[in-house]
Amino acid sequence: MSLYQRACRVIPGGVDSPVRAFGSVGGDPVFIARASGPYLYDTDGREYVDAVGSWGPALLGHAHPEVVRAVQEAAARGLSFGAPTEAEVELAEAVRARVPEAAKVRFVSTGTEACMTAIRLARGATGRDLIVKFAGCYHGHSDGLLAAAGSGVATQGLPGSAGVTAATAGQTIVVPYNDEAALEAVFDAYPDQIAAVITEPAPANMGVVPPAVGFNAFLRAITARHGALLIFDEVLTGFRVHRSGWWGLERSAVETPPLVETPPLVELVETTAPAPKASTGSPNAAPDLFTFGKVVGGGMPLAAIGGRADVMDLLAPLGPVYQAGTLSGNPLATAAGIATLRLADINVYAAVDAVSSDLQAAVNEALFEVGVPHLVQSAGSLFTVFFGDFDRPITDYAAAQRQDSAAFARFFHAMLDAGVALPPSGYEAWFLSAAHDDAALNRIVEALPGAARAALGA
Ligand code: PMP
Repeated sequence: MSLYQRACRVIPGGVDSPVRAFGSVGGDPVFIARASGPYLYDTDGREYVDAVGSWGPALLGHAHPEVVRAVQEAAARGLSFGAPTEAEVELAEAVRARVPEAAKVRFVSTGTEACMTAIRLARGATGRDLIVKFAGCYHGHSDGLLAAAGSGVATQGLPGSAGVTAATAGQTIVVPYNDEAALEAVFDAYPDQIAAVITEPAPANMGVVPPAVGFNAFLRAITARHGALLIFDEVLTGFRVHRSGWWGLERSAVETPPLVETPPLVELVETTAPAPKASTGSPNAAPDLFTFGKVVGGGMPLAAIGGRADVMDLLAPLGPVYQAGTLSGNPLATAAGIATLRLADINVYAAVDAVSSDLQAAVNEALFEVGVPHLVQSAGSLFTVFFGDFDRPITDYAAAQRQDSAAFARFFHAMLDAGVALPPSGYEAWFLSAAHDDAALNRIVEALPGAARAALGA
């Protein structure tokens, strides 16, 4: 009996999170035994270059010795106290040093909890019930945020989830991404009823679909005008696309020229469709609340809500909005987060940006070479290869759903056979790390021509 068969006997679908199953690409998921730097090793000892990065956290590569040491030292001091620790304060200070608008920070264990709490906080702060989210954005699996969600919900083509009451679903209004007029119409239709708009400021859960120029600034303006809060869900982008997340990237694009030159890939992309431009918001257009996860926990279960002090202070014990957690701010998780943020300096971001640019250019070239219709879209170092004929950029979920999932599946399996682990869905971003050196990059690049031919069905 295979490990997967054994798993399926005791775990629904054999996995603890649906995106890990090879639902849309077919075949059995690979079981991982260990990981190091840019490499994964399965239970048969096979090595893969990893472009999943644990779905985001592994910015420094896997099992960075300093992060592992920090966790080991913390473990030796005790696994969990259920009492405040200095490490929580230190990590909150590190978050605020990078994102000053996160004036106060509370740690939780998952991105789901962070977004769920941000929504509750917005409702508590405004006394309003309705939430607006964008189709194709994913904010975790709490009841109210599953409507038209991205990530695994998109991969499986689900409208939402069974088990969510009509009453709860009815309090979430779903709007197409990048659609200013649709959002205006919603605010007109529900005056004084919308507590918050939650967005991925650079969505990556319907594949990477960057914000149109000025879209995030528009969100700031319209929410402020209507007395609603704006929540930037940076669980995926936070501390990954820039030391201060997507918010920091937009702000630095306004204030200073980019550190890394735009990749030559733009030229290649233009032969299929114009490359989407990154949005450049006003430097003053900070959201009211942020959520963070993934990188901030350095691979351990940790996430955070941060934002305006007056709003954050509505949380218990100071205020009436309740939120709690036995393992919140866990000492091992905070140790991993502190070590990761300490190591994630400007060179790390430059390295990840460079390897991402090189790889995007190589993927474009390999697919053009054999004539596979496709579109590469990026936001910072995050990118997605959409298979299919696209004559213009993908700006929303409806367009992303027109991708050729069968071509992606053939490409995915050819890459896997060649020893490259990609996210097993065309609705996800590729995640690289500062540990992806030339050797790792070359192994991915060498696998591309064969996978391109496989995508073509040849
Ligand atoms: N928000 C975003 C933008 C995410 O990408 C994710 C996870 N991929 C979440 C929230 C949920 O985080 P978690 O899986 O830790 O609950």
